[in-house]
Amino acid sequence: MKGQMMMRPLRIADILEYAALVHPSGEIVSARVEGDRHRQSYAETAARTRQLANGLRALGIEPGDRVATLAWNGYRHFELYYAISGIGAVCHTINPRLSAEQMIYIVAHAADRILCLDLTFVPLVEKLKDHLPGDLRYVIMTDRAHMPENSLNALCYEEILADQPTTIDWPEFPEDTAAALCYTSGTTGNPKGTLYTHRSTVIHAMLIAISLSAALKPGSKILPVVPLFHVNAWGLPYAAPLTGASLVMPGPGLDGASLFDLMDDEAVFSAWGVPTVWMGLLAEVKKRGRLPEGFKDVVIGGSAAPRPMIETFEDRGVNVCHAWGMTEMSPVGTQGNLPVHLNDLPREDRMRLKAKQGRQVFGVDLKIVDEDGRRQPHDGEHAGILYVRGNTVTSGYYNNPEANAEAFDDEGWFATGDIATIDAHGFLTITDRAKDLIKSGGEWISSLDLENIAMGHPDVANCAVIAVPHPKWDERPLLVVVPEEGKTPKLSEINAMLAEHFAKWQLPDAMEIVESLPLTATGKVSKLTLRKQFADYKLA
Ligand code: ADP
Repeated sequence: MKGQMMMRPLRIADILEYAALVHPSGEIVSARVEGDRHRQSYAETAARTRQLANGLRALGIEPGDRVATLAWNGYRHFELYYAISGIGAVCHTINPRLSAEQMIYIVAHAADRILCLDLTFVPLVEKLKDHLPGDLRYVIMTDRAHMPENSLNALCYEEILADQPTTIDWPEFPEDTAAALCYTSGTTGNPKGTLYTHRSTVIHAMLIAISLSAALKPGSKILPVVPLFHVNAWGLPYAAPLTGASLVMPGPGLDGASLFDLMDDEAVFSAWGVPTVWMGLLAEVKKRGRLPEGFKDVVIGGSAAPRPMIETFEDRGVNVCHAWGMTEMSPVGTQGNLPVHLNDLPREDRMRLKAKQGRQVFGVDLKIVDEDGRRQPHDGEHAGILYVRGNTVTSGYYNNPEANAEAFDDEGWFATGDIATIDAHGFLTITDRAKDLIKSGGEWISSLDLENIAMGHPDVANCAVIAVPHPKWDERPLLVVVPEEGKTPKLSEINAMLAEHFAKWQLPDAMEIVESLPLTATGKVSKLTLRKQFADYKLA
């Protein structure tokens, strides 16, 4: 028997309209590319977004058209998110850290009609222009006073809005209409696109609002260091206005000192980003001998949060929520705030649990299977290949049948490419990316586990463990270390630490000192680049 309730399609535009009505004083504070700091309430943002939507229509943007952005975190980028999807078009966020070749590929693959770019990226796009489609139009996201000379024949963002009405009847369409498009960084082969729907986006916003309610609440200020150009800044541009939390947008200033100053001035409560960013911030905290004012909560994801980092934050009174997810999952899959019944555990146990990747958010199902597809028990011991399912998980890559053939199992679950255990409390532990595991003499060694412990050595500022070829064992672990300033780490000392947790055959055979680790377009350590760098490495 069918129920008898109304079926109203979920629409992204309704989130901002709701915020304008119910949380009108919630605001977006932006460190602008122009150099100043800008503030705007959700009510003002909604009015400007309606103007922008009218302006985009006047430029001929139709439902289904792709409009690309190449921009930092700021209010104009936020307005584009809502205006583009609001009129039924698709907001395609481009990661400026992709290679030129990848950018050219995805603009063509997405068939973008307009590219909206921050001032910073004008020289980059001018260089690419001859390789981009001839009919692509450009919009520079600034006002007339700051419009630079350019060879793009670009329109000025503020002029597109200027004379448009502040009212609009947002169109109705089915809730599975495409709203946003994000390509993974494509460490192998071409980047693959995840095409989010209005439904998946609104549901994801509600999921994280519920799961991360300590941060997402009216009046609290949240800093997305995670970029709007990558997986919708983990859903914050949707979840913040939905809950009445304000957003503090860092623009291009992502170094420790700039983040510290912005957080300090604005009394940011919760900041979200990848571990690399927090290394910079923690160095600044150490230098200044204090935390930024009001800073109480940090969400760390995108790659594994090293336990020493978690402990440093927690010991200074900052709650750490270690989260896991991926582009194909909108992205949040699990979050690591401890449940009430585990909150009073001794510090050591709490830290051990916080270093895991957390527990599933409502609506995301997890399963681990062996190589033959047999389900593995959730006992915290058996590792398996991690699959996911849910309303916020992709059902197929955009226009890419080849990639889809490998991405799903017979039951329709999505293959994450991660290897994991799940314990009896539901805590997920990512032991490795499948492709980063080290296979030594037929046995697997988890690079993540080794890194986690090695990071705790006082002479180690950052590190990565990769597989290098070995004539007898196929592969052996190599430890690549960035030392703390003025320190000379010794492998024997680090291995002594590791030996408390690992069997002798699992310990790294050698160590290399480097000045810095190569990063991917999303700010994670690029093991692919490291493996290439050390491909001919000869173990003594
Ligand atoms: P990319 O950066 O490659 O474009 P994603 O940001 O979607 O793509 O990366 C998702 C992957 O990042 C996951 O499959 C997982 O391997 C890794 N990852 C994300 N969060 C964590 C975490 N907390 N711990 C360990 N690995 C993580």
